[in-house]
Amino acid sequence: MFGLVSCALVVAQSACHVVSAQPLAVSKGNNWNGLFGKTIVVDAGHGGKDTGARASDGSTEKSLNLAIAKRLATDLREAGAFVVMTRTEDVDLASDADERRRHRHMGDLQGRLRVVRKQSIDGFVSIHCNADPSPTWYGAQVLYFSRNPKGKELAETVTEAFRTNGMHGVRSVQSNQTLYLLKRIPEPAVLVEVGFITHPTELHRLQTARYQELIAFSVYTGLIRYFEGASHHEVAPENGSAHRVG
Ligand SMILES: [Zn+2]
Repeated sequence: MFGLVSCALVVAQSACHVVSAQPLAVSKGNNWNGLFGKTIVVDAGHGGKDTGARASDGSTEKSLNLAIAKRLATDLREAGAFVVMTRTEDVDLASDADERRRHRHMGDLQGRLRVVRKQSIDGFVSIHCNADPSPTWYGAQVLYFSRNPKGKELAETVTEAFRTNGMHGVRSVQSNQTLYLLKRIPEPAVLVEVGFITHPTELHRLQTARYQELIAFSVYTGLIRYFEGASHHEVAPENGSAHRVG
C-alpha cells in the first residue's frame, strides 16, 4: 500500500484528516503525569535548503514540521519535561564540509543524531509530513524501527491518541527498518507523519493553528500514556518482518 512519495528522509515516507469536537484525552499542565522530569527530543524534519515535500500552493513540509514541533515542545515543557529541539529555525544541521562533499542530506541526519546523543534521553519524536503524487491519500501515521519495541509501543499510544482526539483517517502504525535516526536511537523513538500535504483538504487543516495544536496535543498525550504504561508492564520484543516504507 505504500506507493507513496517520500517526504524525504532518505527512504522515509510517510502519510491526515478531520477533526471533531470531541473532548481531549488528558489535560495540560499536570505535573503528576508521566512526562514530568523526562528528557524528550523533538525533531522538526528538514529545514533550510531541504524543504521536504512541497504542496501545490507552495507550502513546504519543513515549515509545517517546525510549527507543529514548536507546539509539541510547548506542551511537553508545560508538563514538566525537559525538551531538546534539533532545530528551532529554518535551517538544516549539515555543515559547509557536508555541502562540499555533496553529503548534505546525510550530514543533516548525522547532525540531528549528535543533538540526540548530547544527553541521556527518554524519548524521541520526529515530525514530518507525507506526500504522494495522488491527491487522494490522507491520514496521519506513526513509524517506528522494527527492532525497537519501545518505539512500537510509543507509536501505538500516539496513534491511539490521534484517534481518540478525533483525527479521522489515521493509519495503523508502521514498522520500518531503514530510517537513519530511528535505527540509531534505542530509546522510545517514533517518526510522526502528521498528514499528506498533497491532499488539498488535509493540507488546509495542517495549515491551521487548531489542527497543529491537535496533532501536538495528541503526540503529547501519547507520550504520557506511554510513560504511564511503561512503568508497570514489559514490552515483548518484536521479531516479525518490517515493511519498507516508500
Ligand atoms: Zn519529511
